Amino acid sequence: MPEGHALHRLARRQQRQFGGQRVQVQSPQGRFGPEAALLDGMRFATAEAWGKHLVYTFDDGPEAASSARMVHIHLGIYGAFTEEELPMPEPVGQIRMRMIGADLGVDLRGPNACELYTPPDLDALLARLGPDPLRADADPAQAAAAIARSRRAIGSLLMDQKVIAGVGNIYRAEVLFRAGIDPLRPGTSITAEEFAEIWADLVALMAVGAERGRIHVVRPDDDHGAPAYAANRPRTYVYRRAGEPCRLCGTPIAWQEMEGRNLFWCPSCQH
Ligand SMILES: [Zn+2]
Repeated sequence: MPEGHALHRLARRQQRQFGGQRVQVQSPQGRFGPEAALLDGMRFATAEAWGKHLVYTFDDGPEAASSARMVHIHLGIYGAFTEEELPMPEPVGQIRMRMIGADLGVDLRGPNACELYTPPDLDALLARLGPDPLRADADPAQAAAAIARSRRAIGSLLMDQKVIAGVGNIYRAEVLFRAGIDPLRPGTSITAEEFAEIWADLVALMAVGAERGRIHVVRPDDDHGAPAYAANRPRTYVYRRAGEPCRLCGTPIAWQEMEGRNLFWCPSCQH
């Protein structure tokens, strides 16, 4: 599943591609058919991301904002957009939503959610999500409070979208390494200074990820040539490096499963 930086990057890209244009909206597969018919021909106003959720706003033009409609998309594990040049090719596979603008079109296949949203729906979603490090309106105090009162492991809390929105497995592992924090420590043991460091690092690293479309977490000084775990995958301190020497101290990177996801850390550098 893409982490939040990828959704913010996608929202910015689609804002550039479609923002302000009247768009054709279709559902070749049919599952989004009635909704697509309502949206077809409306103006694509905004694309925004909150954590791993994408929300579009459509309206009938700047002077008719009262008729605005919203669409909520969550890609989940299998969802993906593909971009197509115009004219659009014949639909291939299960295309939930096809959107065609002035210059190009996109096809959405396999999302976890693709649905019309009302303002109360959006409020309910945001009430379920913690602050998003990539949003200027994020309130980190909310996440600090949730962590400070929880006995769950910080490695688990960082992955919980109700605590912080947008963090996935890679940023969780890497940020805790960079802060020298053992992922098994309970939230109650995380000091205000440690939380501030985690938050500031997430803000900085995820902004780089959204800008470049790639996860960059290894400081240049620490990069002594140990390879990434696979071609075209991010170079990391600990993520997917189980048993390999820590880039800082040489200790074999530890691994365990935590709530069904693989957790990686350095037992020497992280306390
Ligand atoms: Zn180490």
